[in-house]
Amino acid sequence: MEFSSKLIEKAVNEMSQLPGIGKRTALRLVLHLLKQPKEQTGFLAQAIVTMREDIKYCDSCHNISDSVLCEICSNKNRNHQIICVVEDIRDVMAIENTGQFRGIYHVLGGKISPIDGVGPSQLNITTLVQKVKSGSVNEIIFALSSTMEGDTTNFYIYKQIGDSEIIVSTIARGISVGDELEYADEVTLGRSILHRVPFEKSLKNN
Ligand SMILES: [Zn+2]
Repeated sequence: MEFSSKLIEKAVNEMSQLPGIGKRTALRLVLHLLKQPKEQTGFLAQAIVTMREDIKYCDSCHNISDSVLCEICSNKNRNHQIICVVEDIRDVMAIENTGQFRGIYHVLGGKISPIDGVGPSQLNITTLVQKVKSGSVNEIIFALSSTMEGDTTNFYIYKQIGDSEIIVSTIARGISVGDELEYADEVTLGRSILHRVPFEKSLKNN
């Protein structure tokens, strides 16, 4: 793509780093911004910078948070002995929307995916294993999407905590294989948490 302006080219290049945004879409967005009042672009830029600067991650569960401990972890009415293991904040939001889960979460920050260069060390796995080994946990529930990467991640964590005497379960698969959690409807997702199955049993079914 040839640009007559280096400024436009730079903006397009930055914009096209975003997922799902190709160069053409980036150019369309940049030209749109140019047609908007200047302060509109300022609001957008400021919102992004402030979000990036001020956002924190919960010290305990790694959920996105405005303070050291997120609202879920600091809620004494939640059952802190049941941990639901999820990929990212979108899953926390989806499960919270079901209103069916009163435990706490552990946000891994992704799934093990050798193709994308994501190994266990890049994910929040160590802190989860430590939590389990500290003896403060009764049950962990895997709620990753049932893709190959999700299954690999579940299995890796399961092996890491293998000798701990806790219940390891996985959400029931009302959700068809390959579906992302966030797209499952609330009723289905809520049911799949209530009707979770022992993780070992899910291994035998595969
Ligand atoms: Zn938290």
